[in-house]
Amino acid sequence: MSMNKISWKTRRKAYWLFKNGKVKKEIESPKRIHFTILNDTEDKQVMYDKNKDSWSCDCRYYALKLKDCSHILASKLFMEEEENAG
Ligand SMILES: [Zn+2]
Repeated sequence: MSMNKISWKTRRKAYWLFKNGKVKKEIESPKRIHFTILNDTEDKQVMYDKNKDSWSCDCRYYALKLKDCSHILASKLFMEEEENAG
C-alpha cells in the first residue's frame, strides 16, 4: 500500500493521537496485536495481523476507503517507537 496516497490531514491527526498518548496497546498474541485509540466521541479498535502483515480498524473511514486511517497510522507510529526503544 502506497503511503503517499494518505492525505496530510490523516497523517497530522495520526501524529497528534500518537503524541498525546491516545494509542493503547491492548493484547498481543503470536498472530495479532490489538490497539485501542482513545477518541473524543468513540474509541476505535485497530488490529494488526502479523501473518498477513495487514492492518484494519473499525472506524467509518477505514470501512469506506479500505486504506490506512489516522488510527492505523497512529498505531504504526506507536510500534515504531516501541521497536526503536528496543
Ligand atoms: Zn480508523
